[in-house]
Amino acid sequence: MKNIVIIVFLFFSFAAFSQRPESGISDSWKKIYRATPTKINDLVNTNLEVSFDYSKCWMYGKALLTLHPHFYATDSLNLDAKGMNINEVSIIKDGKHIPLKYFYDSLNLYITLDKTYKGGQNYTIYIDYVSKPNEIKSKGSMAISSAKGLYFINPLGKEKNKPTQIWTQGETESNSVWVPTIDKPNQKTTDEISMTVPDKYVTLSNGLLVKQKKHNDGTRTDTWRMDLPHAPYLMMMAVGEYSIIKDSYKSKEVSYYVEKEYAPVARKIFGLTPEMIGFYSRITGVDYPWPKYAQIVGRDYVSGAMENTTATLHNEYAQQDARQLIDGNNWEIDIAHELFHQWFGDYVTTESWSNLTLNESFADLSETLWDEYKHGKDAGDEHNYVGIQTSLYSSGKKDLVRFYYNDREEMFDMVSYQKGGRILNMLRNYVGDSAFYKSLNLYLTTKKFNSAEAQDLRLAFEEVTGQDLNWFWNQWYYGSGNPKLDISYNYDTDRKTAKVFIKQTQPDKIFRVPIAIDLYQGTEKKRYKVWLENQADTFAFPASSKPDLINVDGDKILLCEKTDHKTLDNYIFQYKNAGLYVDRREAIDFAARIQTEDKNALTFLEAALKDRYKGLRIYTIQKLNIRDDSVKKAVEPLLADIANSDPSSMARSSAIQALGKYKNDKYKALFLKFLDDSSYSVSGNALIALAAIDTSAALKQARVLSAQPAKGILGDAINNILFTYADETDFDSLAARFENLSSGNSRYRVLIPFGNYLKRVKDKNNFSKGVDLIVAFRETLPQSMRQQFGNYLNEMVFKPIAAAKQSAGMTEQADYVKSKISGN
Ligand SMILES: [Zn+2]
Repeated sequence: MKNIVIIVFLFFSFAAFSQRPESGISDSWKKIYRATPTKINDLVNTNLEVSFDYSKCWMYGKALLTLHPHFYATDSLNLDAKGMNINEVSIIKDGKHIPLKYFYDSLNLYITLDKTYKGGQNYTIYIDYVSKPNEIKSKGSMAISSAKGLYFINPLGKEKNKPTQIWTQGETESNSVWVPTIDKPNQKTTDEISMTVPDKYVTLSNGLLVKQKKHNDGTRTDTWRMDLPHAPYLMMMAVGEYSIIKDSYKSKEVSYYVEKEYAPVARKIFGLTPEMIGFYSRITGVDYPWPKYAQIVGRDYVSGAMENTTATLHNEYAQQDARQLIDGNNWEIDIAHELFHQWFGDYVTTESWSNLTLNESFADLSETLWDEYKHGKDAGDEHNYVGIQTSLYSSGKKDLVRFYYNDREEMFDMVSYQKGGRILNMLRNYVGDSAFYKSLNLYLTTKKFNSAEAQDLRLAFEEVTGQDLNWFWNQWYYGSGNPKLDISYNYDTDRKTAKVFIKQTQPDKIFRVPIAIDLYQGTEKKRYKVWLENQADTFAFPASSKPDLINVDGDKILLCEKTDHKTLDNYIFQYKNAGLYVDRREAIDFAARIQTEDKNALTFLEAALKDRYKGLRIYTIQKLNIRDDSVKKAVEPLLADIANSDPSSMARSSAIQALGKYKNDKYKALFLKFLDDSSYSVSGNALIALAAIDTSAALKQARVLSAQPAKGILGDAINNILFTYADETDFDSLAARFENLSSGNSRYRVLIPFGNYLKRVKDKNNFSKGVDLIVAFRETLPQSMRQQFGNYLNEMVFKPIAAAKQSAGMTEQADYVKSKISGN
C-alpha cells in the first residue's frame, strides 16, 4: 500500500486542527503483545457469487469456503464477517446443504461444524449473506482514510463529473466486510469470484477472467479465477466504465484500466510496467509469478494505491493528462512500488502486521532500485537521500518490527516504509549487490505462497553470506533510533598521518556500523573499511601530505545525522572528485549557508547551477538567497539561461519562479511567452511571476487560460489569481469554477483564496451563495475527515471572513458566516 500526497496533505495541514486525545488516554496497549494469529483452521479456497444493489449500497453474496483444520482436530470455525446480515450457514455434503449452528455478533461468525475434522481434512461451508459497508463504523490510518472494505462511488450517478464505480480495499483486515473469511495476513486462499453487474460496466478481480455470461435483464456475470494462493486482504473487486489498454510481459497480459478520456495517455502513465516486471524478475531471480498484471484507477480512493494480487488499484491522481506528463510522470514510482509488492507482500506475505517491514520496506526500496536502473545513479541516490531525511525526521523511538502497538494501522508509517527501505539499502551495501539479490531469491523461493517474519529474512541472508547477522537485525529490526555522528579531522605533518575522529552523540545506545572512509590526495582515492563500535573512535591513515578530502561514508548510504567539520575547499573538492549525488548536495548545502559572506561559495553555487543532474540544478536554484544583492546580480544571467533553454521543464519552471522574485518589468515579455509553454509548471510559474509585476495583466491572462482545463501548478495559479484579484462582477463564473473543480485536492487548495475573495464580495445573495458552496463541499467529505477538516475551515476560512465583515460593518454577512461554523 502506498500513502500519498492527498493523505499527507490532509494530515499535515489539518493535523493542527484535530481534536487532542482525551488526557489520561489508556496506554494499556503497551502491555498487549501482538502475537502472530493462531492458525486453527486454514483457508483453502474461496468461491463467491456477488451482485450489487446500487440504491442501498448493499452487496448480496453467496460464499462457498473450503477449509481444513491447520493441525489439531476441531469441530468449530471462527470467521471474520463485519457488519453483515447472515441468511444461511450450512455445510456441503454430497451436494446438499446441511444447516449448521452458528452465532453472529456483527464482527465474527462462530460456526459449530457437523463433526470434528482432523488436521488437513477439507470441508466446505456455504454462507448466504448481505454486506452493508456504509452501515458499519470504520476508522482510518496514516495510509488509508477509511476502512469500509467495499466502496460504492457515486452509486446513483447524482454527483457531477464523477463516474459510478465500485472498488474494494482489503488491507489491513477490511475484506471481511464483503467476504466471510479468516481475515489475517498469515492465511492463503485460492479464489473464484463471479460478479453480476450491469452490462455497460467492466469488472476486474484477481487472476484470470475465465467466463462471461450475458443475461436477459441487461446484466452480465463475469467470473475471475485465481489459481494460486494469496492472502485474504489481497482479494479485490472493481466495477465501472473503463477503457482497457493491453500490453504484455512475455506471454502474460499486462493491462491498464482508465477512464475513457485517459485512454490516449494510458501508455504514457503505465507503459513502463512490462519493463519494470522484467527488471524486478531479473533482480529477484523469480520470474513474475502470477498469471496477469492489471492496474485500475478508482475515484475517491482512500489511499495512494494497493497491491491486490494481479490487480493493483491506484488513486485517481495516477490519471494525468498529456501536459502534466511533460513535467514527468508523477505516478511512476507508485507503479513501481505496487508492482514490487507482487513479490514482497503477495508471493511472500508478512505473517503479522508487526512484521509489515517484509512488505512495505521492500516496496519502498524498490522505488530506489527502479530509479537507479531506469533514470541513473543520481536519481536513485536522490530518492534514497530523501528517504533518509524523512526517516530521521520522523522515526523516533519505534522499532522496525513492533510487537506492541495501539492499532495495527499505525504500522503503516515512515518507519515501515522509508526507514525500512533505507535499512535494506544499507544491508545491500554491506553484503554487496550479488549476495543481496541471492538472499532475496532464497527468501522468496523458500517462503513462496506462504507467510514469513523478519527472522526468515535474516536466515536467508546468513545462509547466503555465511555470516552471523544477528547484530544487524537486533540493531535495526528490533531496535530504534539512528547514529548521530560528529566527524572531525587532523593531519600530523611529522608522522605523516591523517586522523579521523568520529563520535556517536546519540544518548541511548552505541551503534555498530561498518563504514567506508575514502582518503583523497589529488585524484588518487584510497578506501578504508572500518567499524564504528564505540562512543568515540579514532582512525589513523598514512598520508604523505595533508589529504584534500577525507570522505566518511564514501557511498553515502548510512542512515545517520552528522555534523561534519569540513571546509568549503573540502566540499568543493568533494563535489568535483567524490561526485555522488549526496556528495554534491552536501557541498551545495554548505556553500548555500555562506553564500552571502564568501565569494568562493557563491562562485561555486554558480557552477552548481550547471550540475549534470536536473534535481541538483533545481535544488541549487531553491537554495539561492535572491534577497541578497550580490547573489541576485551574480546568478541572474544563469537563471535566465536555465529558464530559456534547460532540457528539463521542471528546472525551467524553477528558474522562472526565481526570476519572478526579481520583480523586474524587463521579464514581462518573457513571462507572457512562457504562458503558452506546453508544460503546466513552466506556464503556471510564469503566470505567478507575471502577477508579481503586473496584477491586471496576470488577471487578464488567467481569465483567458481558465477557458481550458488546466492541472498542476498552472491550475492552481489560475485559481489563485482569479480568486485573489477578480472583483464581484466575476462572481458567477468564479462560483461555478469553485463548484466544478474536479478533484477534492484542488478544492482544498483554493479554500483560503476563495475565502479571501468572499471577504471582498458585497452583494448579500452572492456572499451567502459563496459561503454555502464551501459548506456543501464540507458535507461531501467522508465522515472520518469531517471533524478535522471542519476545524481547519472554521479557523482558516470562516472566522477570518466573519472578522473582516464585522470590521467593515457588514454585520448581517458576519452573522451568516458565523452560523455556518461547524460545532455551532
Ligand atoms: Zn506498499
